[in-house]
Amino acid sequence: MEGKEESCVYKNPEAPVEARVQDLLSRMTLMEKIGQMTQIERAVTTHAGITDFFIGSVLNGGGSWPFEDAMSSDWADMIDGFQNAALATRLGIPIMYGIDAVHGNNNVYGATIFPHNIGLGATRDADVIRRIGAATALEVRASGAHWAFAPCVATLTDPRWGRSYECYSEDTNTICELTSLVSGLQGEPPKEHPNGYPFLAGRNNVVACAKHFVGDGGTENGTNEGNTIVSYEDLERIHVAPYLNCLAQGVSTVMASYSSWNGRKLHSDYFLLTELLKQKLGFKGFVISDYEALDRLSEPFGSNYRNCVKMSVNAGVDMVMVPLKYEPFIQDLKDLVESGEVPMARIDDAVERILRVKFVAGTFEHPLADRSLLPTVGCKEHRELGREAVRKSLVLLKNGKDVAKPFLPLDRKAKRVLVTGTHADDLGYQCGGWTKAWYGLSGRITIGTTLLDAIRATVGEETEVVYEKIPSEETLASVQGFSYAIVAVGETPYAETFGDNLELTIPLNGSDIVTAVAEKIPTLVMLFSGRPVVLEPAVLEKSEALVAAWLPGSEGQGMADVIFGDYEFVGKLPVSWFKGVDQLPIKAESNAYDPLFPFGFGL
Ligand code: BGC
Repeated sequence: MEGKEESCVYKNPEAPVEARVQDLLSRMTLMEKIGQMTQIERAVTTHAGITDFFIGSVLNGGGSWPFEDAMSSDWADMIDGFQNAALATRLGIPIMYGIDAVHGNNNVYGATIFPHNIGLGATRDADVIRRIGAATALEVRASGAHWAFAPCVATLTDPRWGRSYECYSEDTNTICELTSLVSGLQGEPPKEHPNGYPFLAGRNNVVACAKHFVGDGGTENGTNEGNTIVSYEDLERIHVAPYLNCLAQGVSTVMASYSSWNGRKLHSDYFLLTELLKQKLGFKGFVISDYEALDRLSEPFGSNYRNCVKMSVNAGVDMVMVPLKYEPFIQDLKDLVESGEVPMARIDDAVERILRVKFVAGTFEHPLADRSLLPTVGCKEHRELGREAVRKSLVLLKNGKDVAKPFLPLDRKAKRVLVTGTHADDLGYQCGGWTKAWYGLSGRITIGTTLLDAIRATVGEETEVVYEKIPSEETLASVQGFSYAIVAVGETPYAETFGDNLELTIPLNGSDIVTAVAEKIPTLVMLFSGRPVVLEPAVLEKSEALVAAWLPGSEGQGMADVIFGDYEFVGKLPVSWFKGVDQLPIKAESNAYDPLFPFGFGL
């Protein structure tokens, strides 16, 4: 090592992390510090912008892709370009690129898409979830990103919420047991590390982000970004508890929630972000805001922005997902510091936290994409893991009109079978929201196996599989030839507020399709949904068997593994299945609890 800069403590990987943090902090100007606190959207990011404003982080909001069907290597080229711009600054502080890898590295073409959290909740299998985290970490690192905005550890109290499928369960204890995605993404923490100290085992890991702190799943009527009205005791018991498990695994970042607690927006809540999370619970990583959440602190949206910045940073937000109009943010924060409205100590605290995570994450030593990991993207091993998770996530709700005569497993040697329904051959629907696009898509959006593909690959050669997306009159008139039908219906993809739904009926005439077929042919219904939906009496009575498949992702073969009997059904409902929406919110601990299928049910 030569020259003065090279001998800096902060550049020495052997020096203790805290010494590196203090050394680097002492060299930084106010503008460099504010830059570290600024996260900007890929779509507005330029190399010059990163260098000129010392930007600390770039993100990929929702599913925004650099171009359609961009693969891992394309992502790696793009992210490395941004990284080189950051490394070209005076101090050469690397950016951390963040991505919503919430069920695999789901924005990238060809990545393994795992079941959404609601399905993982049905597995009750923390080890599978940890392994999914480790696989996702490899696929994220291969594409050059360092940070996954996962897991969502919200407690789902009302399925009318558009983010229900991002939750593992309605039951806090179940969620607490399933937070292992953190260790999967970040690596196993050493026993002796202090609570909440950021931890990453190696270069094949990424920074995790527990979200959305806190009470996002508890809002009135399940309204996205709504208000959670509970006492402090209930907030801790129901919504804060999963964070303790994440902190115990050294989760490096926590995302604040758009929602409010008893009328106060989380992004301006000093008590929850600073006194509770950082002081009482000892969180040493950093708090990231949600997307444009500071704009939402005021009415109308975006007004009085300077004051929103002040409230939020002073409340304890360390890095701001601005993410579009970053110059006004930077200017406002600079002005607030100079006027003394945001104390310099607060800025230093935020920057220390960010640098600590960057050092621990190894971004200084390994700033660029690790292209040797490219072959792991969508590899056989990861797809096998996805398939295993799908198998374990299926919940059998009904098996045979007559319980004494189970309908499943299906006969793979049947002569002629009908596969039908809007969801039987749609990979996009099978993956749901946060896949390739924020709101999700329809069709062959990536590499994977649909239910129809899986059935075809499983039945014997002598079996004729007749597929019709919507069953025709003609087919229904000649039903005698079919041994059985598999009808796949369900929800169409959505994300966040676009998923808020007060009706929760099966879209695209799903119930009618099921009834029309089940009236004539013995029918297995495969239901794809991110939450319980209304099951009309005709659907329940006429079908022979009913399986909740959730949003299983790209590895549809896992469904065939179970319905044809190679594996047993093991999934248990992670949520209560209501009879009608008038029962919502439905609470297992209430005396009036009278669900269609109770929490934990599964044949
Ligand atoms: C969501 C977050 C997500 C962020 C970045 C927000 O709209 O609430 O969960 O991580 O966008 O895409």
